Amino acid sequence: MASKADVTDALRAIVDPDLHQDIVSLGFLKVVEIEDGHVLAQIHITTPACPVRDEFKTQAERLIGDLPGVKSVTVRITAPEQRRSSPVKESGLEEVSAIIAVASCKGGVGKSTVAAGIASELARRGHRVGLLDADIFGPSVPTLFNRHDQPLTAGRGNLLAPVAVGPLQVMSFGFWLGDAPAVMRGPMVTNYVQQFLHGVAWGPLDYLLLDLPPGTGDIQLTITQAIQLDGALIVTTPQALALTDVGKGIVMFDKVEVPVLGVIENMAWFADGSGRRHHVFGEGGGEALAERFGVPLLYQLPLDPAAYGGVFDAYAGDEGLARASDAVVRALGRSKAGSQARPEVAFDERAISVSWEDGSVDRVTNRALRANCRCARCIDEFSGAQLLDVERIPADIRAEEVRVVGNYALAVTWSDGHSTGLYPYRTIKSLAAEAA
Ligand SMILES: [Zn+2]
Repeated sequence: MASKADVTDALRAIVDPDLHQDIVSLGFLKVVEIEDGHVLAQIHITTPACPVRDEFKTQAERLIGDLPGVKSVTVRITAPEQRRSSPVKESGLEEVSAIIAVASCKGGVGKSTVAAGIASELARRGHRVGLLDADIFGPSVPTLFNRHDQPLTAGRGNLLAPVAVGPLQVMSFGFWLGDAPAVMRGPMVTNYVQQFLHGVAWGPLDYLLLDLPPGTGDIQLTITQAIQLDGALIVTTPQALALTDVGKGIVMFDKVEVPVLGVIENMAWFADGSGRRHHVFGEGGGEALAERFGVPLLYQLPLDPAAYGGVFDAYAGDEGLARASDAVVRALGRSKAGSQARPEVAFDERAISVSWEDGSVDRVTNRALRANCRCARCIDEFSGAQLLDVERIPADIRAEEVRVVGNYALAVTWSDGHSTGLYPYRTIKSLAAEAA
């Protein structure tokens, strides 16, 4: 008859495709109970819409079922239901499990459409999803879902009730403001935004997508500071994929310690009648992103401006949105798992050492890391030409400060005053491997 240890051992065969480790080592296996040949196992994953959820369940049922003496198997897959702390007394965000901000550094890249599309897709799959349109200057939810002159009603407590659009819950600054543009400054914005962000009675949600106003200025920073975010997406278009802009977004989220999950490139291509893809604005931005900042290009959506006009149903069955949603959810899962295991960093006159959770250590000399800075001052972002004269790096260069940025990079302030570079983990790993 199989024991608890046998069940645990059997489940080591299930490997998380994103985290490259088995679910037992990852600590996902929470409960194993065996009674008279009936086995109950609980697997706790990082985020409820995890696309591998069903696969884990099927694999676990089969692996346990194959053990001797097992009469029945029940596998429960659970995900965190977090209660978030908030700076205000009564917040409608308390029962929201994950909040993902959707940002763009420039307007006109289709950020709101991407946010609405992903929110719709996740809601359609049966998750509890909200979309909060916090674009104070150009709210788009009323147009995207054709809800002009939407009346608002009171929800629980003194909060507003969200508006149901099919299975999706939405709220927009536009419902408050109507067509009047917001003319507000400084502290007024802060108060207004706080009230709005916390003033909606969402109830329990698996995901809340927060559509930020475009840009990386004070208002965006105010919003990202007002609530505890679990991750951020940056939406861009190939022609707007000015790396400096994406960098600004990463720096903004780093200030509030929010990991950037990745970048979604919108309007990346269009398909002609024969299904052939045309990359209107060029290709190859993804590699540059990973190299410079260590953040992934999560998905490239086609240029298809007419596709999502006006109604919830228009988003249904869109393959691009489905895949983009998978990519986002998986990135959130990786981020949540990664944030529990940040590397330890040490530095001295000679080198910077990064110690990983698995016990391995990557050591890169100060000179080598400084020479591999990919910031806009060291590498021309359009031509890729090196602007930094490596010969002129002081022989005794050393780090004065090293910070871990998100789950992907180190930020270093060097003794020569240079501090604009991010050093992705993969750069550090490959430099350490080269040196060894
Ligand atoms: Zn640099």
